[in-house]
Amino acid sequence: MQLNERQEKIIEIVKENGPITGERVAEKLNLTRASLRPDLAFLTQIGLLEARPRVGYYYKGEQNPFSMYERMRDLKVSDYQSQPVMVSESTSVYDCIVRIFVEDVGTIFVVNEAQELEGISSRKDMLKIAIGKADINQLPIGVIMTRMPNIVVAYEDESLWEVAKRMIDRQIDGMPVVRDRENGQLQVVGRVTKTNIAKAFVSLGQGE
Ligand code: ADP
Repeated sequence: MQLNERQEKIIEIVKENGPITGERVAEKLNLTRASLRPDLAFLTQIGLLEARPRVGYYYKGEQNPFSMYERMRDLKVSDYQSQPVMVSESTSVYDCIVRIFVEDVGTIFVVNEAQELEGISSRKDMLKIAIGKADINQLPIGVIMTRMPNIVVAYEDESLWEVAKRMIDRQIDGMPVVRDRENGQLQVVGRVTKTNIAKAFVSLGQGE
């Protein structure tokens, strides 16, 4: 773990003076408490410092190498998922292309009236059809979509890390987040994509 210069200084100060309040650390560095907050949060997050309410920070020791892995596997789909973009099977490919532009997504989900998953179509699926001879104004998305049961899905309480692994293994950019229905169908409640994984990765790096 590479710490920046300021973080190294904070560690030194806390090692020598701990337990020490955030304000006192800030004074010693001639900085404001607010500007120090991200560093203190980061150092606490990775386990080098521990914060005790009303006592302050103290040095906890070298980072446990497993803490970061555990934290990564603790990230839940529900904390990062986005809104799904859903259409019905009879929607024209043209209208679906408009939707992916307007909603700024790469994949569109095809559902019935009960929002139960029927299919999925990626931007490249649509591009492939659009450059062919088909009349995309007339052609329903249901004809070109990838159909159930061949759809890879995610559940809200799953680990985001497991989902990321599945995305890589199955070579897809995203998947619907679903809930099991009693009738055996899958109700679409969200969307998880490589963008959500990238956001989680960034927030981990920031020690959030
Ligand atoms: P693109 O086709 O734009 O590269 P993907 O890599 O996500 O986007 O999709 C590759 C293929 O897999 C497409 O034909 C798409 O219909 C299909 N696909 C996309 N997402 C899934 C999914 N969750 N489950 C099954 N198939 C999918």
